[in-house]
Amino acid sequence: MNNTESPNIKPLLSVKNLKKHFVTKKNFFGHPKEYAYSLNGISFDINKGETLGLVGESGCGKTTAGRTIMGIYKPTDGEVYLHGERLDLTKGPEKRIQMIFQDPYACLNPRMTVGEIIGEPLEINHVYEDKKAKQNRIYELLELVGLSKEQANRFPHEFSGGQRQRIGIARALAVNPDIIICDEPISALDVSIQAQVVNLMRRLQKELGLTYLFIAHDLAMVKYISDRVAVMYMGEIMELAEAEALYANPMHPYTKSLLAAIPVPDPDVHQDISIIKGEIGAADVVGCPFALRCSQASDRCFKEKPVIKDVEGHKIACHLL
Ligand code: SF4
Repeated sequence: MNNTESPNIKPLLSVKNLKKHFVTKKNFFGHPKEYAYSLNGISFDINKGETLGLVGESGCGKTTAGRTIMGIYKPTDGEVYLHGERLDLTKGPEKRIQMIFQDPYACLNPRMTVGEIIGEPLEINHVYEDKKAKQNRIYELLELVGLSKEQANRFPHEFSGGQRQRIGIARALAVNPDIIICDEPISALDVSIQAQVVNLMRRLQKELGLTYLFIAHDLAMVKYISDRVAVMYMGEIMELAEAEALYANPMHPYTKSLLAAIPVPDPDVHQDISIIKGEIGAADVVGCPFALRCSQASDRCFKEKPVIKDVEGHKIACHLL
């Protein structure tokens, strides 16, 4: 993909000013009194067949973003469009958007067989009337993710972590979704297994023309799988650009800090991995959310929120640029 934003291509998914605020305290009458601002108005497009990486430190709101787009959380404000059609996220999860969850140990029901787990979305969405057709689809999905149909009657505890994540992928694929939100899909796996699962996801993307929103904190893996990358901080997007451009020429001070903090596998290179210093600050900050930790912050940064601008193909929220 060569476009950061594609005026001529209709995006498959459009997220516009999406907000999700959780109520943390209620008053005497039970009305909301205090909020945690997990998502402060994020906007981006994803094109068909593309992978958009969504990165940031833990607690930055990236998982909330995925769950709100999917309809697991009801948005506080903003819109999500699929093929140009506005989704009604108040109705709950949208079938055309599926998710691969972070923890393959926790997300599979231990009392269900693998066949039942993969078949569950087919059942809920009444995809097949015919039992045999449903069974064949389950076998097909198992083989697609590198498992065998003989394993359909086994239970999750009989599988390794990598195999369980393959089962999670098969379940996400069952109803032929338009987009798959991958919420830290490899972070709970052994390092030796991570590459296998990512390579499987890349192969499936090629073969089936899948579109991914890939949420992660591992910047190296995000670079490997993503066409474009969005960097989040405190519920907002700080920078969004082509993956190559973002890693070769990061422009936002926060992106620069994050990239500088990636460990280099060379004992002779001494790196300051605690490079992002300072307090995180309040959620409902008036100015730039990164101001308290930014070495280049000026008075203006504490008073005025930077708006997203296009700078040399990067979308950036920073007064410096
Ligand atoms: Fe730093 Fe100011 Fe830019 Fe925020 S707006 S990243 S505080 S220079």
